[in-house]
Amino acid sequence: MLSYWERSSFIHHDLIIVGSGLVGLSTALHYQLAHPKKKVAVIERGLFPSGASTKNAGFVCFGSISELAENARTDSQDELLSLVEKRYKGGLELRQLLGDKHIDYCPVGGYELDFQGDLHERMFTFNDWLRPLFKRPVFSDARDNIPAFSFKQTIVKGLVKNQFEGSIDTGKMMDAFARKAREAGVQFYTQTEVLHYVEQTNGVEVAVSTAEGSLQLFTGQLALCTNAFTKALLPEADLEPGRGMVLVTKPLTWAPPQGTFHYHSGYNYFRNAGNRILLGGARHLDLKGETTTKEGVNALLEEQLIVDLKNFIAPDRPLEIDYAWSGIMAFGEGKAPLLLHPSSRVHAAVRLGGMGVALGTGLGKELAQRLRATTS
Ligand SMILES: Cc1cc2nc3c(=O)[nH]c(=O)nc-3n(C[C@H](O)[C@H](O)[C@H](O)COP(=O)(O)OP(=O)(O)OC[C@H]3O[C@@H](n4cnc5c(N)ncnc54)[C@H](O)[C@@H]3O)c2cc1C
Repeated sequence: MLSYWERSSFIHHDLIIVGSGLVGLSTALHYQLAHPKKKVAVIERGLFPSGASTKNAGFVCFGSISELAENARTDSQDELLSLVEKRYKGGLELRQLLGDKHIDYCPVGGYELDFQGDLHERMFTFNDWLRPLFKRPVFSDARDNIPAFSFKQTIVKGLVKNQFEGSIDTGKMMDAFARKAREAGVQFYTQTEVLHYVEQTNGVEVAVSTAEGSLQLFTGQLALCTNAFTKALLPEADLEPGRGMVLVTKPLTWAPPQGTFHYHSGYNYFRNAGNRILLGGARHLDLKGETTTKEGVNALLEEQLIVDLKNFIAPDRPLEIDYAWSGIMAFGEGKAPLLLHPSSRVHAAVRLGGMGVALGTGLGKELAQRLRATTS
């Protein structure tokens, strides 16, 4: 039963955003900053964001050589260049908005491991292609670093460095984002699931489920920032879920390599997280099994990641796996995210792929601008 006060203060909003991941937070913050008097609420079904934004590896990246080459199979050169630009500038935007010290940004560089030994020959083509954007060579030959990183030299035959990539502390980044949104005036409702919505002449009725039961909220505009889970609310959204898993070692007695590392066309990745190694990916080994919105650890992927760790990432080093987790991403035909406007009151910003850290802030800002344009 709702009180008079609850009915007058908590039910009606100007903007409700579903999902408190990076995109939801960016949309909320940018809209609220532009409209300080509007009532903005973010609704999240988890206690924390429970999709990808607090589960990811914290790479601020825009694509390794082999990943960009694979992307070129589905996207044209122009589309790809514009995507690289969005990813790169998106990373800069995130850093500028929250401040490097609040997100522990480290300009450690991005490295691609090369098992064939020919990657450094291909980097010249990619440097030429990216020169209009970066004005300097992006990739450089980093083979000399292989012994210092202690990789198995008979397996890791080459190493290419991307000087424009780095790492963040994902937890600190999401905490800083949420604090900023709260300071701006955004209201948060967690452990609240949006079940469905119905458009009316003067707004949108939003049915939510909470521990106390179900209730209806009302909003002038509704923004779905639900990424992989969007089809439950907007069945026509062109995306499918992709689960990703991550393992972390127990604290190490030796210094792990400092940097963000990729291999197998970006499907696999690892980095140091303090004095641990965090590694993940390998989704390509069971793409069908990982097309799911259910959390869980795929034993096949987990086993392969541990083999890689022991075989060539940290051979002959004492280490133990501490724990694993999963997160859910959203993918589609093209690599660009989707900004959808199914009606003048309902909008969606979704399908961030595996690079939402770089793309999420900009996409949320774009949605907020669009919402502002339609706000009376
Ligand atoms: C293991 C892993 C590693 C990754 N590593 C990187 C990386 O290193 N660098 C990088 O750039 N990207 C990485 N990503 C991708 C990146 O994390 C995502 O692209 C990004 O977080 C997507 O943000 P989002 O806000 O769109 O979605 P999400 O973070 O998934 O947020 C959507 C939110 O909506 C909520 N929600 C859904 N439905 C409802 C509902 N009906 N009611 C209420 N709430 C709802 C969910 O609980 C969720 O919190 C990784 C992803 C994973 C899973």
